Amino acid sequence: MRVKEVTAKSILRKNKKIESWFLTAYGMNLYRGCQHNCVYCDGRSEKYQVEGEFGEEVIVKINAIELLRRELDIRRKRAPFKLGYVGVGGGVGDSYQPVEKKYELTRKTLYILYEKKFPVHVLTKSTLVKRDIDIIKKINSQNRAIVSMSFSSADDKISSVFEPGVPCPSERLETIRFFKNEGIACGMYLMPVIPFITDSPKQIENTVKKAKESGVDFIIFSGMTLKDGRQKDYFINTLQKSYPDLIVEYNNIYRGNKWGSPIFQYNESIYQTFDIIARRYKMPQRIPPRLYSDILSEKDLVVVILEHIDYFMKMQNKKSPYGYAAYSISQLKEPLSNMKNELRTLRGVGRVTEKIILEILENGRSTYYEKLLLG
Ligand code: SF4
Repeated sequence: MRVKEVTAKSILRKNKKIESWFLTAYGMNLYRGCQHNCVYCDGRSEKYQVEGEFGEEVIVKINAIELLRRELDIRRKRAPFKLGYVGVGGGVGDSYQPVEKKYELTRKTLYILYEKKFPVHVLTKSTLVKRDIDIIKKINSQNRAIVSMSFSSADDKISSVFEPGVPCPSERLETIRFFKNEGIACGMYLMPVIPFITDSPKQIENTVKKAKESGVDFIIFSGMTLKDGRQKDYFINTLQKSYPDLIVEYNNIYRGNKWGSPIFQYNESIYQTFDIIARRYKMPQRIPPRLYSDILSEKDLVVVILEHIDYFMKMQNKKSPYGYAAYSISQLKEPLSNMKNELRTLRGVGRVTEKIILEILENGRSTYYEKLLLG
C-alpha cells in the first residue's frame, strides 16, 4: 500500500442543495482512494479521477485540518453556513480506512465540527469509528450525530469476496449496537446490493432482520452501478473467478448505460422486493424526520420531505410531481413562508403538494409523508 501526502487547495464541499439521502449540506473527502478496496467501489471509475491504482494507493490531504479551520471561520464568510448535517465519509475513500489510525484526520475533523457546533453524519464501513465515541457523543448531546454503516449484505462469507479490506458485516452490526447503546442514532446504507448474489428476497430479508435486531433507525437501499472502464473491468474480473456462471446475467442487465445503471426492469424488481420487506419489518426507508426536522431550514425541510415522497411514489409506480416541486423550491432565493399564497405558481406544485407544503410550514411535519414512511 502506497501512501502519498498532498497539500489540498480546499476541503469542505458545499452541496448544491440539501442532500436528501444523507441530510447533508456539506461533505468532504479527507482521503482519496481507499484501502478497503471493495470490488464494486465506484470510486474506481474514471469519472472521479482518483490517481494511481485504486486500492493500492491512498492520497492523504495532509493540510486538511488547517484548511477546515480556515474554511469554517465565520469571520471569513459573507453568507452564513447552511443548516444541515456535515457529512464525514463516503465519496472516494472511507474516512476510517486503516491509514486514519496514523493520521487521525477524521478524529481531528470531528473535534473542529464539535467546536463549531455542527451536526454530523458519519458514514463508514469500518469499526475504527468506535475509537471516536467520546467526540461523537459530545456532538450528539450538543447538536446531533448519526453514525451510519454501509453493507452489501449481512453475509460474512460473501463480504469476504467483495469487501476484502473491511471488517465483516457481523462486526459492523456489532458496531451499530455499540453506538445505539450509547444513545447515537444509526443508519444502514444497504448499497449496493450485488446483483444475483445479495439481492434475493432471502438475502435482503436476512439483512433487514439483522439490522432491525441491531437497532438501526433506518435503512437506505440502492442497487449497484457498474460504469464502463476501470470499475466494470475490475468487478467482472472478480466475478469471473468467484461466480463465473453469472457473467451472462450481468451482460443482460448492464448494457453500457452512461451512469452504469442496470436496466429498469431489474432495478424496479429489487426496489419492490426491498420495499415489501422493509414494510414487513416496519423499517423506515428514509432518514426519519425526528432526526432532522429541528435542524434544517424551513425551505430545506420542505425540499427533503417532498423528495422523500417522490421516492415512495416512484416505488409505487405512480407519476410524481414531487421531485419537480422539490427542485423548484430548492432554487428559491426568498423565504418560502413569504410565498404561501403563490405556491401554485411554482413548477410541480399542484393542489395536493400545496397542501403538504402548507402543513410543513405550519407544523414542521407532513402527516401524509409520515404515513408513507411508516405505513
Ligand atoms: S469502503 Fe467505500 S470508498 Fe472504500 S472501497 Fe469500499 S465502497 Fe469504496
